[in-house]
Amino acid sequence: MPVLLITAIFGALGGILILLIRYFSVKKQYAGPDSPDSGIPDIPEPDFDGFVHRLRRMIQIPTVSWTDRSKRDPALFSQFQDELVRLYPRVHQSLGREVHGDFGLIYHWQGKATGKKPVLFLAHYDVVPAEERGDETWEESPFSARVRDGVLWGRGTLDIKSQLAFTMETAELLLKEGWQPDRDIYFAFGGDEEISGREGAQNMAGLFKQRGLEFEFVLDEGGIIAKNQLAFLKDRPAALVGLAEKGFVTFEITAKGESGHSSMPFKEGTAVGRLARGVVRLEKRPFPTRLDPVLSNMLERFVPYVSTGLGIVFSNLWLTRPLIQYIFSKNKVTDSLIRTTQAVTVFKAGEQENVLPGEAVCLVNHRILPGDTIEMIGRRHRQTLGDEGLTLADAGNWPSNDPISAGDTGDTGFKLIRKVLAVTHPGVITVPYLVNGSTDSKYYRDLTGQILRFCPLVLTPEDVATIHGVNERVSLENLEKGLRFYLQLFSHL
Ligand SMILES: [Zn+2]
Repeated sequence: MPVLLITAIFGALGGILILLIRYFSVKKQYAGPDSPDSGIPDIPEPDFDGFVHRLRRMIQIPTVSWTDRSKRDPALFSQFQDELVRLYPRVHQSLGREVHGDFGLIYHWQGKATGKKPVLFLAHYDVVPAEERGDETWEESPFSARVRDGVLWGRGTLDIKSQLAFTMETAELLLKEGWQPDRDIYFAFGGDEEISGREGAQNMAGLFKQRGLEFEFVLDEGGIIAKNQLAFLKDRPAALVGLAEKGFVTFEITAKGESGHSSMPFKEGTAVGRLARGVVRLEKRPFPTRLDPVLSNMLERFVPYVSTGLGIVFSNLWLTRPLIQYIFSKNKVTDSLIRTTQAVTVFKAGEQENVLPGEAVCLVNHRILPGDTIEMIGRRHRQTLGDEGLTLADAGNWPSNDPISAGDTGDTGFKLIRKVLAVTHPGVITVPYLVNGSTDSKYYRDLTGQILRFCPLVLTPEDVATIHGVNERVSLENLEKGLRFYLQLFSHL
């Protein structure tokens, strides 16, 4: 045999060996299933019927956040706050409560002063409107909070009054048992998360900062227990704990032109044409793809649960990264996880068909991948537009922020969630995740080294589609497990 062929065979065998060694080592490292270790505290038995009744009362108050703030009814928000006082008497006897502005609600539970850092639980009690569009109709009226066949229907059942209810119910029950946490626990509930969180979360975070508070971890919404969402896991659920969150910025691009009579247009065209050409240049140049470390780690943690072939791919990202990025880029959901996205959402120009417009404006919304920044995006766009006549500025309607990565799988918060899930949701694989939406937790980024975005509800793709859509609902079984998760979690604090 020629020497070259022998070398090639040995080379190939060596390559395969390296892939396999890495595969078996990653598989062993993350082998599970996650199982409860020692030290599971006894938790009191929840009053589940009472819990459902209390959550129903919360759903029935239509605390709707409208983008047009004049449509919002502040009386409903105070009614919700008052209802909490009625539903949770022990919490209101024992915990400090502050209403901050019209929409911020803070509770402070004094711990045993053991020197442990406090923790902060977030949720929001506003919901998006529940209007019906076209042939999308609600099977049950969105604010009736009807329970039918073991399912609670209504706007806010998933996003996210259930999480607020878990927090309050847990505190009420533990207070009844005479339990006191080792450390201080804070709750901060916002009433305007769906329209930016500027009035609620931003102000509350400012207040905590003024008081010099620093939290061990902050738990907010953002991740869920995904079921039937990842084909390669078959029906095994995965708890997606958001350790990173994409940034947010909307740029306004303006083209100026000369107005005049449309019967005598300028040779160089109108402001509309100029802006349109700029938009085409942007859309032809999407941001590059990149696999964030959080997602790399997520894929590695799936290795013990997928086929050997896929396991070899997930455990050898040093080699297979381009392949993964290519596959992710083929689907809009996974594509949004591997690049900064840009979407032209508003285009405004012209008033009348026979008048040349003097100005054209568009808005381009971005969700920023960790590693990129608002400043970088602005620089890149100016270069891509390549037109001095187009001005670019942060639109400023919503607060913009760079991406946030706070926390690691080795930190206390992630480990605690994993440990508790092993008890309340056995068989679930707990993985880190990149949240591509925006949550209230971004305002608390300077107050902690760990932000965890997670709500312990098991959701299928059909369930997820009802969030901000019609027929939002949650099964009672799901709620019961979620409540047990919170009880376990608090008992470990
Ligand atoms: Zn929400």
